[in-house]
Amino acid sequence: MEKDQTQMPICQSCGMPMAADEDFGTNADGGKNHEYCQYCWQGGEFTAKMDLSEFIEMQVKIATENLGLTENEAREVAENTLPELKRWQEKGIE
Ligand SMILES: [Zn+2]
Repeated sequence: MEKDQTQMPICQSCGMPMAADEDFGTNADGGKNHEYCQYCWQGGEFTAKMDLSEFIEMQVKIATENLGLTENEAREVAENTLPELKRWQEKGIE
């Protein structure tokens, strides 16, 4: 049996696992936000205001440049992961 790793919260915008305190985003009152990471959420708002398809493009670019995935691989991961996250479900997808 594989050990389940869902204990670790993941960012509900980009899917990044958040392990350390500084991985979490910050709220307007300076507190930590436990749903979104520091890259997505700062000072109580999203750092990148874009829709899901734009966000997928950005994630694909990051993954191909930083993780060495091919564009197809990166796109598959992004398209399978991101729509499940809370940020993208609330808004509805056009
Ligand atoms: Zn994030």
